[in-house]
Amino acid sequence: MGPRPPVSGARRALLAAGGALAVGPWLAGCERAPAEVAGGWVGADAARGHALRDGRLPRADASSARRCSVAIVGAGVAGLAAARALRHAGIDDFRVFELEDAAGGNARAHTMGGMRCPLGAHYLPLPGPEAREVAELLHELGVARSEAGRTVYEERHLCHAPQERVFVPSVQADATAPGRWHEGLLPLEGAGTGTLAQLRRFAAEVGTLQRALSFAMPTLRSRWSAGLAALDAQTFAAWLSARGYDDARLLAYLDYSCRDDYGAGLGLVSAWAGIHYFASRHGFHAPGDDDAEPADAVLTWPEGNAWLSERLARGLDDRLQTAALLTRITPARHEVALEVWNARAARPERWQARQVVVCVPLFIAARLIDAPPAALADVAPRLAYAPWLVSNLQLHAPLLDRPGPPPAWDNVIAGSPALGYVDAMHQSLRPVPGPTVLTHYWALGGQSRAELNAQRARLLAAPWAAWRDAVLADLLPAHPDLPQRLARIDSMRYGHAMIVPTPGLRGDAALAALGTAQGRLHFAHADLSAGSVFEEAYTRGTLAGQAVAQTLGGDPTSRRST
Ligand SMILES: Cc1cc2nc3c(=O)[nH]c(=O)nc-3n(C[C@H](O)[C@H](O)[C@H](O)COP(=O)(O)OP(=O)(O)OC[C@H]3O[C@@H](n4cnc5c(N)ncnc54)[C@H](O)[C@@H]3O)c2cc1C
Repeated sequence: MGPRPPVSGARRALLAAGGALAVGPWLAGCERAPAEVAGGWVGADAARGHALRDGRLPRADASSARRCSVAIVGAGVAGLAAARALRHAGIDDFRVFELEDAAGGNARAHTMGGMRCPLGAHYLPLPGPEAREVAELLHELGVARSEAGRTVYEERHLCHAPQERVFVPSVQADATAPGRWHEGLLPLEGAGTGTLAQLRRFAAEVGTLQRALSFAMPTLRSRWSAGLAALDAQTFAAWLSARGYDDARLLAYLDYSCRDDYGAGLGLVSAWAGIHYFASRHGFHAPGDDDAEPADAVLTWPEGNAWLSERLARGLDDRLQTAALLTRITPARHEVALEVWNARAARPERWQARQVVVCVPLFIAARLIDAPPAALADVAPRLAYAPWLVSNLQLHAPLLDRPGPPPAWDNVIAGSPALGYVDAMHQSLRPVPGPTVLTHYWALGGQSRAELNAQRARLLAAPWAAWRDAVLADLLPAHPDLPQRLARIDSMRYGHAMIVPTPGLRGDAALAALGTAQGRLHFAHADLSAGSVFEEAYTRGTLAGQAVAQTLGGDPTSRRST
């Protein structure tokens, strides 16, 4: 084993906080799990992705090329938003190519026992003033409406109370005192005055930064400045340590927030990202303070953000080609050549387009494009992507509950290396609980690039049953009756789920350069924002679609109904 990096004060406190950094009790406690719970890997065709990486697919004859004005590569949220912008501008001669069997990317859904559940993204915070495109979409979809100058959201799409709770296992867990649930994600029971003082100091500091610097969601609407660059230059852990933040509860909560939004902990993400998480939205409020605001409202659906992506994909008809793997993009003077592997027909295709919107992660774009733009070649080696595991647990009956507040939409287990679970039936208005699906999230980015790479290797190498057992072991302290209620577990593993905002990335000049057209190529993916959330992907896709429409002479503002 090589030398270990020095452990900062912040990191030391976090380690002491109870294993939030470690991958945890790998398979520990599994003797209590049922020997065989059915299920398996779902959601991604690994063979297709590997075929692209290995470059072993046949190529189509150039003479058979078909034409379209615009090719959109990737039908995640950004690609679907680009298609919507083109249609609004009256441009219909486009084609969307998507590797998987369904559109949506990280915002796709799954179905178990007739119940829909997310395979990835599961909520959208209410858009703030800078997320204009998202707000417009929500109005168009009937999620929001204007009343007397105010935006009103449809109740059924707002997360119903209770929104979140956390299970704190007792220190000497035994059958008589196993631990209990608490409201919110940062319970203060048993906290000393030192904890509260640090929470208040952090809240004040976030407020000061929020007023002094430009934090925005989406971040492309921020005015970049020396102050933001200084935050971006260091890890969040280093920034916290330098300011004397060493309270275990605060650090564990901040680490949880980073893993939840960025897929990696505060040792790997930048201080810009750590502060942006709060400052671009609702700020940070110390629980228990008089001015503490209730948890911010979010929009959610049983199938998560697939509710949105499925509506974005409606009406695309045969302009959306799924199971279509882009294998090469070759820009030329007058057109761009695209080589596509049609996985359904098991044959290669060739297309020519005047403009191309590249909506795949940038590390994939760098592999696809012949002679990639200099900015892409420059930034690609610096990008880090967090691996994630998402497990959907189908229950044939509701779980018994530990003491404390009742089941919430978001249920977190303190000290767990994972992120807890959301309940797909939480939004149902049924009078008594019944069968449901719990979606368990596990971000595996860790605290360093080495840890991230090791966890990805483990995610991809370990058999499904090993991860099933690890997920069960994670949940058993809070839900010992889980094995008796469990019908099936379907798991989705993402080797490269989301970009990690590592130090320097948000202010990276090459990354910023990709925000403007590179010849006939327009890049649109959450990666460009150094952070993957719906608002970033959707805004990038919309702006790229509008830019293409302008280039082609369409009217990006015509708002033709689609
Ligand atoms: C587990 C998980 C949970 C998340 N939870 C939330 C959440 O609750 N709220 C939130 O706002 N965000 C969440 N996110 C972030 C989410 O990534 C973004 O919200 C958004 O969906 C990203 O969209 P995108 O279009 O930028 O990228 P992607 O979703 O990565 O879309 C890229 C698309 O390109 C396709 N593609 C790749 N290679 C090729 C190829 N060679 N040819 C053709 N197609 C290709 C992919 O299949 C994919 O469909 C979550 C992400 C993950 C992984």
